[in-house]
Amino acid sequence: MKAVSWQGRQSVQVDTVPDPQILNDRDAIVKITSTAICGSDLHLYNGFVPGMIKGDILGHEFMGEVVEVGRGVGNLKVGDRVVVPFPIACGNCTACQAEAYSLCENSNPNAWMVEPIWGHATAGFFGYSHLAGGYAGGQAEFARVPFADVGPLKVPSNLTDEQVLFLSDIFPTGYMGAEMCNIQRGDVIAVWGAGPVGQFAAKSALMLGAERVIVIDRFEDRLRMAREKVGAETIHYEQANVLEALKELTGGRGPDSVIDAVGMEAHGHGPLYAYDKVAQTTKMTTDRPVALREAILACKNGGTVSVIGVYSGIIDKFPMGAVMNRSLTIKTGQTHVHRYMRPLLDRIERGEIDPSFVVTHTMRLDDAALGYDKFLNKEDGCVKVVLKP
Ligand SMILES: [Zn+2]
Ligand SMILES: [Zn+2]
Repeated sequence: MKAVSWQGRQSVQVDTVPDPQILNDRDAIVKITSTAICGSDLHLYNGFVPGMIKGDILGHEFMGEVVEVGRGVGNLKVGDRVVVPFPIACGNCTACQAEAYSLCENSNPNAWMVEPIWGHATAGFFGYSHLAGGYAGGQAEFARVPFADVGPLKVPSNLTDEQVLFLSDIFPTGYMGAEMCNIQRGDVIAVWGAGPVGQFAAKSALMLGAERVIVIDRFEDRLRMAREKVGAETIHYEQANVLEALKELTGGRGPDSVIDAVGMEAHGHGPLYAYDKVAQTTKMTTDRPVALREAILACKNGGTVSVIGVYSGIIDKFPMGAVMNRSLTIKTGQTHVHRYMRPLLDRIERGEIDPSFVVTHTMRLDDAALGYDKFLNKEDGCVKVVLKP
C-alpha cells in the first residue's frame, strides 16, 4: 500500500510499504477514504517531538471502511464505515473505565521510553512517534486499528467524510478545551490560535453557552473564518496589544476562561519571544510557551486556563506567580476522544455544527509532501488539508 512516511526534519514522502495485517483478535483493518494533516503532525514534521524514526507512517486523523476484523471484534463487520479516534484505548483498564482514554494503561508498549521524561506514560496514539507506541498512522491506504471493538465509531451514510472525519481528533479536542472551561451563561472565552482546533474550541464554547468568544491569531484568513463561520470576535496579535485589547473587551477583568490552542511552537514578537526561539533552537528548553504565558496573564482572577495545544517537555519563564496568586486553574490533557465521538456526532446530525467548514484544501495522498508544506507555511489560506488515498 501507499503511506506517508516521516523522513526527517520537514521531509515526508509517499512510500510503498507492506499492507497492515491483523495481529491480535481485537484488531481491524480499515481501508482509508479520508485522512487529514493535523497541527500536531507539524510538530513531528518540524522535528520537535523525540522518538521519530525515518520511515515512520504518519497520520492520526482518519476514517474509512472496515475490510477485515479479528475474532474478538464483535461490534464491527466488513463494510462498516467508521471514524477512528487518535488515542488507542483498551476499554478495560482503570483509565479507560474512568473515560480517560488518552491515558489508557494498556496501549503504549513503549511506556518505558516516556516515564523518565513525563513520569508516567500516555496511551498509544496512531502515527505519533515511538513515545506514543510507534503505531503506524492513517495517512495511508490502510491502517491496522487495535482495540477496534472500543475505538471506531460507525457513521451514517448521509454525512460526507468531511463532516465526520474530524471526530477523530480536532472537533473533540476543541470541544474538550471548551468543556474544561466549565462555561457559565454570560461567560467571555478567549482562544489563542485560529487553526482548526482553535476554530472548534471557539465554536464549542458558543455551543456550551458562552456569550462571547474572542479568537487571537496573526493570519487574516483564519481570523476571517473565526468571524464568519464561528461567530467569534477576533484580535490580530501583530496589530494590537492583546492584553490591553482583552481588558478593553471585558470591562477590565479579562476573559472568564482562556484556551491555548497553539502549543509548543507559538509565534510572537519582542525580546521574550527572541529568548524562546534561542532557547528552543539551542535545546535549553523544548517548547515555546508564548501563547500560554499570554493566556495566563489575560485570564481573569479565579478563571480557568484550558490547554489543548501540544507541549512536549520543558517550558521556561512560566508565570507561576500569576497562577498561584490569582487563583487560576490549569486544565489540560490529550483528548479523551472516545468520550466525545457519539455526543458530537449527535450534534452534527442535529445540524448544530458542520465541521467541514475548516477544510480549505483537499489533495491526493500522493501530494502529501505539498500538503505538509502548504499547511506549515499557511499558503493560500490553508487551514486544514484533507488527503484522499
Ligand atoms: Zn490531530
Ligand atoms: Zn485502557
